[in-house]
Amino acid sequence: MNTKSNLQHIAIAGAGLLGRLIAWRLRLQGHDITLFEAGKLQPDNTLRAAAFTAAGMIAPLSEAVVSDANVYRMGQFALQRWPQWLSDLPQANLPQQNPQLFFAKGSLLVAHPQDESELQQFENELNFVVPECRNYQWLSGHEIQTLEPDLHSHFLRGLLLQEEGHLHNREFLQQLGDELVRLNVTIYENTPVEVDPHTIRALDRTEKFDLVIDCRGLGAKTQLTQLRGVRGETLHVETSEIRLQRPVRLMHPRYQLYVVPKPNNRFIIGATQIESEDRSPVTLQSSLELGSALYTLSPAFAEARIIETDTNLRPAFMDNLPKIFCSPGLIIANGLFRHGYLLAPAVTEQVLAQVAQNHTILFPNLLQPSG
Ligand SMILES: Cc1cc2nc3c(=O)[nH]c(=O)nc-3n(C[C@H](O)[C@H](O)[C@H](O)COP(=O)(O)OP(=O)(O)OC[C@H]3O[C@@H](n4cnc5c(N)ncnc54)[C@H](O)[C@@H]3O)c2cc1C
Repeated sequence: MNTKSNLQHIAIAGAGLLGRLIAWRLRLQGHDITLFEAGKLQPDNTLRAAAFTAAGMIAPLSEAVVSDANVYRMGQFALQRWPQWLSDLPQANLPQQNPQLFFAKGSLLVAHPQDESELQQFENELNFVVPECRNYQWLSGHEIQTLEPDLHSHFLRGLLLQEEGHLHNREFLQQLGDELVRLNVTIYENTPVEVDPHTIRALDRTEKFDLVIDCRGLGAKTQLTQLRGVRGETLHVETSEIRLQRPVRLMHPRYQLYVVPKPNNRFIIGATQIESEDRSPVTLQSSLELGSALYTLSPAFAEARIIETDTNLRPAFMDNLPKIFCSPGLIIANGLFRHGYLLAPAVTEQVLAQVAQNHTILFPNLLQPSG
């Protein structure tokens, strides 16, 4: 419980996913928050947080297979936290046509008949990384059709990962931006900053705070030299020919594709993962690979309209795991890589515990030795 005496004047650098969440949760505790963002809160196409490019999947099982069991546990935490946090947003402000932002309908893994060994391989890897995990189910072709009738009928086996969800992330970020304004968070847009303990340095001024929290994602690279960007490309398509209830992943020996349903008959198809910090537009090869794999999920996608292509960089450390560095007057939280929506609740709660100095270590693997 915060008393007036332990409320602080806190600066947050970066209003992407982590910055917005941490600003929100600290403001709800009564802290005085100033948020500095290099771009805009509702960004255009030029400079935007990786959070706007993301597909918004919250996929602890799929991500555990490519990372570790800690990611799975933090992801389970996220599946509980997201609906609780979303219920704190004023319901009246949610879009009337699509008020729901979070879905806990699992995700579906399918493979073409000649690639079914990919599904078995996934199960083997999952059992290796998270032996205690039982929250998935093998499906027959008939069961796949019952769950997702618009998928191609040639899928004969699939895996339903019950313990996964997805979020309409752009809509959420927009709502949260509006909420920060409503809660009287002081916001400086178009203001790139550098951070030091207790200090924010912008081009035209230096300001002092009780505490600075650095959430600049890849923008922190000037000060966090071990950070790298990992390029990801997506396609956005629109069609009323297909409905999907949940994210679908196509397991393929060469292309791993997912398609995530979004409001207004839209779908995000993604994503490439390329070791490059090139932010230039989607390549022809990537768009052909994503597009043709999509078409094999259902021929009805052939008539979908490509309404957007997007490229961004995932902020990652060498081990692709998130980290929190704490020193007096400065907390740095970064490295969410491809797991931002999955891990942000755990990272946020651990940052809140550090701010409160209550010595609660919720996720010990996140905290890095200071110095
Ligand atoms: C193609 C793609 C698909 C993805 N899909 C998923 C997914 O389905 N599920 C999932 O969990 N994760 C996904 N991710 C990962 C997720 O987007 C990131 O992990 C997450 O956005 C990282 O959050 P962040 O707040 O650290 O950084 P960001 O969201 O990038 O935010 C950083 C913010 O800091 C601002 N900034 C930068 N420099 C400065 C500065 N000097 N001063 C002030 N502000 C600054 C930026 O403008 C930005 O607003 C995906 C990422 C990509 C690229």
